[in-house]
Amino acid sequence: MRLMNKTALITGGNSGIGLATARLFVAEGARVAITGRNRDTLAVASKELGPQALALTADVTDVAATEAAISAAADKLGKFDVLFANAGIAERTPAGGSSLAVFEDVLRTNVTAVFFTVQSALPHLNDGASIILNGSVISRLGNPGYAAYAASKAGVRAMARVLASELSPRRIRVNVVSPGASRTPIWNGTAPTPDAFAAFEKRISGVIPLGRIGEPEEVAKAVLFLASNDASNIQGAELFVDGGATAAPAGAPVFRG
Ligand code: NAP
Repeated sequence: MRLMNKTALITGGNSGIGLATARLFVAEGARVAITGRNRDTLAVASKELGPQALALTADVTDVAATEAAISAAADKLGKFDVLFANAGIAERTPAGGSSLAVFEDVLRTNVTAVFFTVQSALPHLNDGASIILNGSVISRLGNPGYAAYAASKAGVRAMARVLASELSPRRIRVNVVSPGASRTPIWNGTAPTPDAFAAFEKRISGVIPLGRIGEPEEVAKAVLFLASNDASNIQGAELFVDGGATAAPAGAPVFRG
C-alpha cells in the first residue's frame, strides 16, 4: 500500500476524478478528507469511502469556509501528507457570447480558489508533503469556447511552478496532473443525454492518438504516483493523462489514411 498511514485532502472529492482518487487513496491505506458543495453527493461518497474518510461541505470560492473545513479536517485526521486541489468547473465562455459573471466564476473557482486552498492548507501540511493541482489539456489545445477555462488551467500550471519554488524549502512537492477528456459529470452540460455523450465521445476520440477518452481512475492513478514516494524527486512538473492528445496529436485517428 503506497499511502499507508498517510493523510490526504481532496477538494471536489464527491464526484468524478476527485472521487476516483479518494477511492484509490483509501484503498492504498490513506485517511482522506473530501470537500464539495453538494451535500447529497458528499453523503453518498462518504458512505462509500467508509470510516477512513471524512466529508466536509465547503465551497472553494469561500476562502473562510474552505479554511475552516481544512482546519476541522486536520483536527480530526492530523496534518496532511497530500493535498489534491481538484475542484473545478468548465463553463463555456465563447468570444461574443459570454458574461463577465461566468468568466469570473471560472477564474475564481479554478485559479483563485486553488491558490487559497493551498494557502489555507499550508499550516496543516507536513514538511515533505505532496500537492497536486488539477490542470487540463485545454490549456494547450485552444479548444473553441473555452477561453476562461483554458486561461484558468494555464494559470494553474504557472502557479504550480511558483509554489514549487516557494515550498521547496519545506520539501513540499507541487505538481500538476493534466487530464484529457475523461468520463465524468463535468460533461453533463455539454452532453446531457446518453446519445449526446456517445456522439461527443466519438468526436473527441478521433483526435486522441490512443483513440478513446479517459477514465477518472486513470487520472487517479497518476495522482497517486505524484502523491506517493515514487515521485520523490518530481517537482514543478505537469503530467498529462490524455492518450497523447497534447504530445502526439498527429497520431490521432482523424489523420490516419
Ligand atoms: P466533476 O465530476 O464535475 O467534479 C467537479 C468537482 O469539483 C465536484 O466534486 C464539485 O463538487 C467540485 N467543485 C466545483 N466547484 C466547486 C466549488 N465552488 N466548491 C467546492 N467544490 C467545487 O468533474 P471532474 O471531471 O471530476 O473535474 C475535476 C477536475 O478535473 C476539474 O478541475 C476539471 O477542470 C479537471 N479536468 C477534468 C477533465 C474531464 O474531462 N473530466 C479534463 C481535464 C481536467 P460539487 O458538485 O459539490 O460542487
